[in-house]
Amino acid sequence: MNSRLLEEVKKQVNAEFYSAYLYLSMSSWCEYEGFKGIAHWMRIQAQEEQTHAITLHDQLIERGEHCTFEIIEKPPQNWENPFKMFEHVLEHEKKVTFMINNLATVSIEEKDHAFYGFIQMFVKEQVEEEANVSDICTRLKRAEGNVMLLEMLDKELSNRIFTPSFGQ
Ligand code: MG
Repeated sequence: MNSRLLEEVKKQVNAEFYSAYLYLSMSSWCEYEGFKGIAHWMRIQAQEEQTHAITLHDQLIERGEHCTFEIIEKPPQNWENPFKMFEHVLEHEKKVTFMINNLATVSIEEKDHAFYGFIQMFVKEQVEEEANVSDICTRLKRAEGNVMLLEMLDKELSNRIFTPSFGQ
């Protein structure tokens, strides 16, 4: 694999692990604050991010590369309320989308068509990710100051099941 592309993929592995770390931190905050359903949703989200990291790692291995690791940044540990937290999720996912698009761009620039094909499932995943999070944001905003609506939404989010769109 081209060295420029390899470095970008390794950065993405780190970013996916950071996402997992961030969402687990959000889950922990929700548990502490008594939002059990959102805590569960975030825990599944963290699991999904680990799957993304490992899927990228496995692709490097398949290409005969050594996937070396960097320090994972410390995530924030507190949020004002669940709405503010989900706004943070949306903002974070937009950054991830930008990084994934960059990976697709670099793979074309470096003429790595195999990697370009591989990364398309991540491109697709980001569209779903942003749509889901944006929907939850809208509903949380609507529930602001309405305890019953917030409790209903919390209960609904407790039903999420881990179904990775790809990976193991
Ligand atoms: Mg991800």
